[in-house]
Amino acid sequence: MDKGTNRTVDIGVNLMHRSFHQDREQVVERALTNEVTPLIITGTSLKNSLEAARYAGRYSGKLYATAGVHPHDAKSCDEETIAKLKELAELPQVVAIGECGLDYNRDFSPRDVQRTWFTEQIQLAQELDMPLFLHERDAFADFASILKKHDVHKAVVHCFTGTSAELKTYLDMGLHIGITGWICDERRGKHLKELVRLIPLDRLMIETDAPFLTPRDLPKKPTDGRNEPAYLPHILQTVARCIGKPAEEVAEATTKTAAEFFGI
Ligand SMILES: [Zn+2]
Repeated sequence: MDKGTNRTVDIGVNLMHRSFHQDREQVVERALTNEVTPLIITGTSLKNSLEAARYAGRYSGKLYATAGVHPHDAKSCDEETIAKLKELAELPQVVAIGECGLDYNRDFSPRDVQRTWFTEQIQLAQELDMPLFLHERDAFADFASILKKHDVHKAVVHCFTGTSAELKTYLDMGLHIGITGWICDERRGKHLKELVRLIPLDRLMIETDAPFLTPRDLPKKPTDGRNEPAYLPHILQTVARCIGKPAEEVAEATTKTAAEFFGI
């Protein structure tokens, strides 16, 4: 691995999202220019995971992908879904199962269906001994109880925005935590600025969740409002300031954490 002083890994990029169709390559280039490398493309449905794996395969060592079905899409799963995810998971560039989990905020899939396919994906990850990339929104109780029931430890709760009690539960379970530009939001992210200090650096990873969650305090706001991995250093700076450590140290530590967690 190269020794960029401020190199960071973006563990959550929705690079196959339609808003990147026109300039996906430039987005990857700008990330590299900003020492954001590698990028881990989030797979959110079977089709999207397939596209992510295919695209990541073109940039060996620079792009990786996850393979999974987001709770929003759980209703589209059928008896072939897990076998197909398993096939994808065998590719060298696919480094985690997910994103999967529960989302009771939007309820785009019925809750019992969400729970079924969340459990199926947990079992797949355990069978393959791969890490899980997890999504939870307004579903903490069910989410935590399913994880506990299946004795899940090798997982990252991506885009954590929860309470201190929720954070403590996750850390006690041995889970990793992903922090996005949500923390840059003066209003919504205020509590996160305090909580991030409680996350040991060997459990903390950072992500943009691009094209979503554009940091609200970017000095030069993108005119189209689209987030991209090149903004990860801005999130790093905010996280480092909250923790009270130099940005280089946080960059190095979170990069090491990500490399070990995903095996990249
Ligand atoms: Zn998510």
